[in-house]
Amino acid sequence: MKIAIAGSGALGCGFGYMMQKGGNDVTLLDFWEEHIKAIKENGLSVTVNGKEDNVIIPVGKPEEIKDTFDTIFIFTKSMGLRNMLEKIKHMLTEETKVVCLLNGLGHADTISEYIPKKNIIMGTTVWTGGLDAPGKTHFMGEGPVEVQNSDENEEEGTRQVVKMMADCGLNGIYSQNVHFTTWRKACVNGTMNALCSLLDCNIKQLFETSQIDELNHGIVSEFSRIAETEGIKLDVEEIVNYLKATAEKVGGHYPSMHQDLKNKRPTEIDFLNGVVAKESEVKGFEAPYCKQITQLIHAKEDILGIK
Ligand code: NAD
Repeated sequence: MKIAIAGSGALGCGFGYMMQKGGNDVTLLDFWEEHIKAIKENGLSVTVNGKEDNVIIPVGKPEEIKDTFDTIFIFTKSMGLRNMLEKIKHMLTEETKVVCLLNGLGHADTISEYIPKKNIIMGTTVWTGGLDAPGKTHFMGEGPVEVQNSDENEEEGTRQVVKMMADCGLNGIYSQNVHFTTWRKACVNGTMNALCSLLDCNIKQLFETSQIDELNHGIVSEFSRIAETEGIKLDVEEIVNYLKATAEKVGGHYPSMHQDLKNKRPTEIDFLNGVVAKESEVKGFEAPYCKQITQLIHAKEDILGIK
């Protein structure tokens, strides 16, 4: 399969590496000059579950690459999605599938402004990754990557992408309910990511505070009210229990938003709690937790001089 990775940061490099190793023709797209230069000069260094490797892989800015692709995986941060869609228009054919595994809410609507619904594949992944230096990344986990076609009558093309991912060791799975999985993941990020960032603590420390139960219930209730307006049923108790179970598994980990702030990079808060705060206002609900968390994260970005 001829594949482009649109946004080749931590996850993009990990997925790109695995798919190239699995025999696909993969090109990395990015805007970060130092990173592109390092990959062109020294290859891409990837450590997958502790095992180091280095591969030669085509890389460039979207405007430099003239090819079209069978499948494009988007791995920008949420706020970079629209700009990337603008920059990859010339790489799309009528059949190009676009896969979006970003955290956050509302991405399918943004993508549908550029790509026909039949070609949009939405999903979530529990693989994790990090950028250690330009051209050097690590990638961890065993999956799964759960995806579903936005147009339910177009399963076949998505099943080919699922099979390709499974063949590459990425543990691709065809999901019947990606919308629910996306909202549940947004609840994980809207609680743990946001709170650990504000409290400057790891997940274990957060779950040891005496306030965590009330905070989780408050935030998840606000998410569930908006999810319901989209036809998604989020059982608050079930999600809070899921958060506890997730926290036990990841323990001493600092979530990605905490790391974004530490690295003085903007957070995805506007696509998580920010969406819930905004939609609640539009729909006439109170959402004090999400509204204040969004304000406080932006205040923290301001203090750190993040634009
Ligand atoms: P990332 O920050 O590593 O990369 C995103 C973009 O930012 C890339 O284009 C990258 O080149 C650029 N970038 C990164 N560091 C930079 C720097 N110092 N200077 C300039 N540009 C830089 O993002 P990611 O972690 O791969 O996440 C992509 C999406 O996947 C997000 O929506 C994220 O929430 C989601 N996600 C990430 C993980 C994870 O473990 N990293 C897990 C699940 C979902």
